[in-house]
Amino acid sequence: MKPRVAVVGAGWAGLAAAVELAGWADLVVYEAGRGPGGRARCAGKDGARFDNGQHILLGAYAECLRLMRTVGVSPESALRRLPMQWLRDGGLRLRCPHLPAPLHVAAGLLLARGVSWTDKWKLARALDGLRRSGYRLERDLSVEAWLAAQGQSAALRRDFWQPLVASALNTPLPRASMRVLASVLRDSLGAAREASDLLLPALDLSSLFPDPAWRWLGERGAALRAGGRVASVEMKDGRPQVDGTEYDAVIVAVAPYHAKDLLAEPALRESVAAYRYCPIATVYMRFDRSPRLPAPMMGVSGGTADWLFDREALCGEAGWLAAVISAPAAGVYLAGDWVHPDYPATLEGAARSGVAAAAAVKRDLQVEQ
Ligand SMILES: Cc1cc2nc3c(=O)[nH]c(=O)nc-3n(C[C@H](O)[C@H](O)[C@H](O)COP(=O)(O)OP(=O)(O)OC[C@H]3O[C@@H](n4cnc5c(N)ncnc54)[C@H](O)[C@@H]3O)c2cc1C
Repeated sequence: MKPRVAVVGAGWAGLAAAVELAGWADLVVYEAGRGPGGRARCAGKDGARFDNGQHILLGAYAECLRLMRTVGVSPESALRRLPMQWLRDGGLRLRCPHLPAPLHVAAGLLLARGVSWTDKWKLARALDGLRRSGYRLERDLSVEAWLAAQGQSAALRRDFWQPLVASALNTPLPRASMRVLASVLRDSLGAAREASDLLLPALDLSSLFPDPAWRWLGERGAALRAGGRVASVEMKDGRPQVDGTEYDAVIVAVAPYHAKDLLAEPALRESVAAYRYCPIATVYMRFDRSPRLPAPMMGVSGGTADWLFDREALCGEAGWLAAVISAPAAGVYLAGDWVHPDYPATLEGAARSGVAAAAAVKRDLQVEQ
């Protein structure tokens, strides 16, 4: 008899787990939303269909590409592959040519425009130092501290490191982990040339993997339960249960801010509750006339947005641009009677929100000091 396995959450993580287990286990997939995809899906509003945020994949996303193929999606037609390029409006302009790694990065840097020779040298030296260390750091430190130790200039920080960390980690430099960034660099710039290619979705995000995976799982006998939020995952007599139904194993694939309400285990709840989050937003803009960009993806220096995407060039959506704003709220905290999540708009609600905002400021500034 096959083991009974439940997967809670049908974002990309839950779907990946379910696809791997299909055929091997009797599967039940629970999803609170009306359909799969979680944070990376197509969402509808006023008759229009928008992705829940512009996404970029990298050639290094081996598992995403393998899983897409498994459920019948061809990454070659679903994604637009561009050799690594870093085009900042009025700043650094770098394109990596078709050469074997790491020559493609070296040549890209050599031919880069909008950057001084001194900065090219400093950037090359910092990247090469990471490569020589096998992208391993003896102890973790913030990207901010690492950049200071590497003597990276203000222009390099503005045009290369800050946008890189915003798009890869969505975290401000003082809070971003250099160890995590080093892993991203190892798997992209430090690997084969194709690994650093940018893969920009030519289809909506749901069609890229979540919808085909959902259908594929259904065809293989998985029970797909969308539209109902699981209330509890707990152990009873040594066996896991989902809302009282017993399984041999349960995979909880929900975001940490949902996991803390779901998990009964106090130690797990506590560690998940300690996570902190940085917002990321995509603004979709429609113009009467097509505002074509010089490239499908362009960086913006010194603006509110970090990156602009030409949706017409990418997926034929004429007149649409997407602007991605990463980690915008660092240093800004909201307080007010209307902000408190579970208290009415009263003096007490206002006071509680002020106390919570002050606590958040203290906590964040302590970490950064
Ligand atoms: C605006 C934006 C832009 C991004 N850009 C990029 C990018 O360019 N490149 C990149 O690689 N990543 C990007 N990301 C990150 C990426 O989207 C996420 O890392 C990824 O989608 C997380 O998938 P997940 O399955 O772990 O979680 P989720 O997508 O959060 O999936 C969890 C699922 O669990 C469900 N769920 C929650 N609670 C319950 C419950 N109690 N019962 C049942 N179901 C439940 C939720 O409805 C959801 O469907 C971006 C994210 C955002 C928001």
